[in-house]
Amino acid sequence: MATPNQKSAQGPAPGSSNAMPLTSEFQLVSSLAKLQDLEKKIHELRTFMPHGLLEPLVPIANPEKATLDNPIAETPKILRDSLDETARARVADVQQFQSLWRDPEMLSVWSHVESRIKESNGLLLQPTGKWERDYDVLLEELAQKEKSNVDERTQEEEHVERVKVQSTEGEWKNVLERFVQRNVPGVRVIQGQDGPSLAVALVRAGVVFQVRGAAETGSPVSDWEVSSKVAGRPPTKLENAILGCLESRPRKWDIAFLLDMISSYADIKQTPCVKCNRLTNDAAQLPVLRRPQANQQFAEGTPRIYTFDALHSGCI
Ligand SMILES: [Zn+2]
Repeated sequence: MATPNQKSAQGPAPGSSNAMPLTSEFQLVSSLAKLQDLEKKIHELRTFMPHGLLEPLVPIANPEKATLDNPIAETPKILRDSLDETARARVADVQQFQSLWRDPEMLSVWSHVESRIKESNGLLLQPTGKWERDYDVLLEELAQKEKSNVDERTQEEEHVERVKVQSTEGEWKNVLERFVQRNVPGVRVIQGQDGPSLAVALVRAGVVFQVRGAAETGSPVSDWEVSSKVAGRPPTKLENAILGCLESRPRKWDIAFLLDMISSYADIKQTPCVKCNRLTNDAAQLPVLRRPQANQQFAEGTPRIYTFDALHSGCI
């Protein structure tokens, strides 16, 4: 295993003030994966001298080893050029390795390794001299596990919210009332006459959506369905594109989420894509996808207001 004692690669000084302590299992495995990768690269670097540099000569000495990538040079000039090119590529590989080694993220790793070697009176940390695990595989497993823990927590939280909202009779009318009071620019909402239903008009975009709460008789609304049936005309291309995105939304039971999501289209003709920063893409399409912004913070006890990022379908 490569240790920071290899002065030739100039690892940063141990105990440097930027070094973060390695505490969690995840950090340790991630660090080991980086070290393992660096070691693999060291083995690759060893083949550069002289073989890597002299590659263009191989098919001249052994014509049967000529390949499409490395053919027999037809003239001395071509040979000279490909030797130059090979040398430049190898130098770039060495430089890339050096920058990986000196990467700020490696600082704490080197510091940790150094202190552990000191603690063990200079003994190497892996006495077998072999890696016994594939740490990149282990890291992937840990990341998956962490993600499914987070997903599970999110689902549990949503379940609690949903039960709370659905256990209050007519809660959707309160949500609607709060929304109307916010006076969101470009958005008009009208409550329907028959049961849980409403119409949402995006005035500037010239789009109207019908929203209807689906529920078994006597049960709370389990799902809000959106359509764009406007009397006398079929839905436009834009309406259909927006509907497609609304249909694939999460929290379908949550009218507050839906109203904020529909409102995010109020200025669709002026809202550029967060990824490519353009309004229309090469296919002249507007960014019709909406993704809830990451890490939204909601104050405890106050109604949530959701915000969304606009994206083209090809920019996810
Ligand atoms: Zn885009």
